[in-house]
Amino acid sequence: MGTAASIAAPIAIVSAMHAELRALLALIEPVERVEVAGRQFHVGLLHGRAVVLALSGIGKVAAAATATLLVDRFAAGELLFTGVAGGLHPDVAVGDVVVARSLLQHDMDASPLFPRYEVPLTGRSRFDAHAERATSLAQAARRCAAVHGRVHEGLIVSGDRFVSSAGESAALRSALPDALAVEMEGAAVAQVCSDFERPFAVLRSISDRADDTAHVDFTQFVAEVASVHTRAIVGAWLAGTIDR
Ligand code: SAH
Repeated sequence: MGTAASIAAPIAIVSAMHAELRALLALIEPVERVEVAGRQFHVGLLHGRAVVLALSGIGKVAAAATATLLVDRFAAGELLFTGVAGGLHPDVAVGDVVVARSLLQHDMDASPLFPRYEVPLTGRSRFDAHAERATSLAQAARRCAAVHGRVHEGLIVSGDRFVSSAGESAALRSALPDALAVEMEGAAVAQVCSDFERPFAVLRSISDRADDTAHVDFTQFVAEVASVHTRAIVGAWLAGTIDR
């Protein structure tokens, strides 16, 4: 970042579901809506910054396709994925916020050809988020009056599974003790952004504990809190990016 060309490039802000992004979608103006591959891309200004807002759909393939379109067709200079996730680490409660420092696909397993979790032929299992973006997002979250829980920074794991039983979440916790939260898109976006050499960040509000009540907690949180968190945190963060 820093050249005239990259300053002009829009920031892409992506969520899996409409309920996670709707409060930000209401603020963008003037807006041009473009449909590609069955997805709506909203191109315009938010807090004075050029942005593209997009709904990816759920899961790693949907997220990877959306991220690829954002970089290649919409010339996004950087990506922010925002939404909800299940808390895994004992310290991470419903209502907390997790900002990714790195991401891993917990369902990637080409062993014994490659080490468990390693993305074949990349030599990597963990993909780092952009350090400065992660720091500024965590700061925005800590200052945000809408966030009543704690703000954590660390590993987020992604896979094509809604983790909704105590057994499944315990297995993930013991295999990946430093994982803070589990969701279904972040690590896919991380891999695409790594390929395209674009900075990215992932911001998640904890909707459930990935346990036997996950589906109940998730449904209520997504309806009531997810979009409010996103608007407040991303709004403050975006307003701060004008100076950088
Ligand atoms: N049937 C649900 C599907 C939601 S899938 C629906 O109402 O549409 C869960 C979504 O929230 C994914 O986008 C994922 O990234 C995130 N998520 C929240 N809690 C999760 C959990 N416990 N496990 C996996 N993903 C979770």
